[in-house]
Amino acid sequence: MIHHFVADEYVKNVFQIDLEKLKTNGKRVILTDLDNTLVGAAVKAPTPEVIEFLNRAKELGFEVIIVSNNNKERVSYFSKDLSIKAAHHKALKPLKLKLRKILKQYHRSEVIMIGDQLMTDVLVAKRLGLYTILVEPIHLHSDENSTKFNRRLERFVVKQLKKRQLPTPPYLD
Ligand SMILES: [Mg+2]
Repeated sequence: MIHHFVADEYVKNVFQIDLEKLKTNGKRVILTDLDNTLVGAAVKAPTPEVIEFLNRAKELGFEVIIVSNNNKERVSYFSKDLSIKAAHHKALKPLKLKLRKILKQYHRSEVIMIGDQLMTDVLVAKRLGLYTILVEPIHLHSDENSTKFNRRLERFVVKQLKKRQLPTPPYLD
């Protein structure tokens, strides 16, 4: 169980992700969280940097799918002009139900998950056997209340990981 909280890579932000390397390693589908992963939770539209990152992923042949726990209004407004495969709201991470549906058409070995939360993004991705990249949350202070609760749980999990000498998010050290 504790191993479900260990990501495969820890990076500062999505722009540090080596898309070429992932491609070389057979990955071709990116599931990504939205809030505090692509932009701060209070930022309504994608920034030029995020648009460029997503375009570059597309050029490399990746299918990009947003999987957010946030509501329809937030997710559809953010993604309306993006050239991505799909954007799902109320993904219910860390529950597997919705992601499992999305994954039906892919081999899990070719899918990566990007997110900023151990309790939702990493947990669901590792439970599904996906390669997982944890980014540092963009704006911790803009978290929703449910996320603030998750952050407290996260600190508890990090203590357990440290006890077992497992990798932890560098920004929580
Ligand atoms: Mg998030």
